[in-house]
Amino acid sequence: MKLVLASNNAHKLEEIGKIMSDLGMEVVPQKDIGGFIEPDETGETFEENSYIKAKAVMDACGLPTIADDSGLMVDALGGAPGVYSARYGGEQNHTDRDRLEYLLSQMEAVPEGKRDARFVTVITMLMPDGQKIVARGECPGRILFVPQGENGFGYDPIFYCPEAGCSFAQLSPQEKNRISHRARALKVFVEKIKEVKEL
Ligand code: IMP
Repeated sequence: MKLVLASNNAHKLEEIGKIMSDLGMEVVPQKDIGGFIEPDETGETFEENSYIKAKAVMDACGLPTIADDSGLMVDALGGAPGVYSARYGGEQNHTDRDRLEYLLSQMEAVPEGKRDARFVTVITMLMPDGQKIVARGECPGRILFVPQGENGFGYDPIFYCPEAGCSFAQLSPQEKNRISHRARALKVFVEKIKEVKEL
């Protein structure tokens, strides 16, 4: 089965493509089916936004489509930045580093012990016959006071992962891929898609 990934992100394609090929499915990026479709992510949840992305691409190409949406949820900030992780703090925050510094500034008065957070990923797969698979993965941790580590992207340097014993940015890509929110969502997704394939 051919599956379209509603993203042109090479890392996502590699990670998702490898797992799906083990299940006998070929994953192609949306640009290969002639599309640069980027719908406005107007949802208020990761579920809504991943659905919006998958639906726009599936409607355009008529093929089963998979989309994901991720972000960081900080308890002390009422779940922010959440679905706004990529644009947190508005347009004056141009880079990942700006957004990370902005988050740290919002957390300045929050003491150790109240800095719990989690990364979340939701994967949605839509099929032209109306079937839908939704899988959610979460990785719990807490927000550091100062950035640590050079790897990864986004909020990785300020996210301490107790399971790893360090920040996400101190992990190698392979180590992060084993325990990340995306890896967990993919694991759930694979179990769910196997059930559908057995029907
Ligand atoms: P996306 O939905 O995967 O594009 O993620 C949206 C935003 O969430 C990114 O631009 C990052 O700010 C943040 N984010 C998602 N996953 C990660 C991660 O693994 N590490 C750090 N930041 C992440």
